[in-house]
Amino acid sequence: MKKPLKRFRVLFDNRREKDGQITFLLYIANICSLLINIIFGMFFLQVSVPMFIINIFILVFNIFLYFLLKNNKNELFINLFFTQLWIFLISAVLLIGWEYGFQQYLFAMICALFLPFYIPEQTKIKRYKFLGIVFVLTYLILQYICFKFDVGIHKNEVKMQLLHGFNSLLSATIVMMFSALSTLFANETRKKLSRRADFDELTGLYNRYALHQILDNYKNNNDDFYVAIADIDFFKKINDTYGHNVGDQVLIMISKIFKDNVNSNIDVGRWGGEEFLIICNSNITYDNFKKMLENIRIKVKNKKSIILKNEIRITISIGVSKSDKNMDIEKIIGDADVNLYKAKESGRNKLIG
Ligand code: GH3
Ligand code: MG
Ligand code: MG
Repeated sequence: MKKPLKRFRVLFDNRREKDGQITFLLYIANICSLLINIIFGMFFLQVSVPMFIINIFILVFNIFLYFLLKNNKNELFINLFFTQLWIFLISAVLLIGWEYGFQQYLFAMICALFLPFYIPEQTKIKRYKFLGIVFVLTYLILQYICFKFDVGIHKNEVKMQLLHGFNSLLSATIVMMFSALSTLFANETRKKLSRRADFDELTGLYNRYALHQILDNYKNNNDDFYVAIADIDFFKKINDTYGHNVGDQVLIMISKIFKDNVNSNIDVGRWGGEEFLIICNSNITYDNFKKMLENIRIKVKNKKSIILKNEIRITISIGVSKSDKNMDIEKIIGDADVNLYKAKESGRNKLIG
């Protein structure tokens, strides 16, 4: 019963962490928007009073948006942020003219729409696709109106060129930034997924899938190797006496002993419930491999841990084997299993190989 709950908690934690990152980015977007609007405000004051007034409204609105973020209304923030930007751009193009280049931000907005972190669901993708089309249409309609009706102020040639340059540069920078951000997010997700694919969630050791990959590698390269299966003795009793939670902690504790006591020739993973598979290359001798495992067995035996106020003592049994000429992985693992069985049969807390 506890495992699914635990898994859910981990998912929830990740979600919280991700939400935190998104909120942080939204704060940055809001602050940048505020600062850029102040710069634009100074310009509009000189060339177009109506646009300056709209700019003041937008500035005030940006402050309102800041409070939305503070109250964790991220989704509403995103929707209103895009809307105000959209209105601002349309006003700027219609009031001061196409030549100033404000329409270019529409493309940056399309890029921002498709940032991966706020469109996890299919339905939302549809919605943002629709908005993307709205922005492209806005661009085309504005272009048509500007050229057909010759709108704009048509003065201040130098300022016009400067502002056009600034707008081109800024919108291109935003596009680049958003593309980079998308790649970063994709990489991050890929890393997390590959971690989940290769590692056991509870112990952090390799999982069975990764262990198979390692074994296949040895086989494909025809490299000699040794394996060992270590199994906790009477583990069911630990669960039955102290509860599953304590059992989990014991698994974590033993995994740590393995991690801390093997060198770079060795890979350790969780083979099944309370069984670990240890794979070693032939850079060390079979005897040295067994010595290392024997040392681990003794460390486990001597370890006295207090888990949730219970004093726990535990032992492990280990079966060891080495690769043969045929490189039959099943057979090598099978041999280790037979040795493990012998260790259990002959009283446990032993290594046989
Ligand atoms: P033996 O010495 O013969 O190996 O006895 P054992 O009790 O260790 O072996 P058995 O196969 O009878 O029981 C293994 C137990 O391991 C049963 C199962 O509940 C427990 N187990 C398997 N996976 C987990 C896990 O992820 N967490 C916990 N707490 N227990 C687990
Ligand atoms: Mg077992
Ligand atoms: Mg066992």
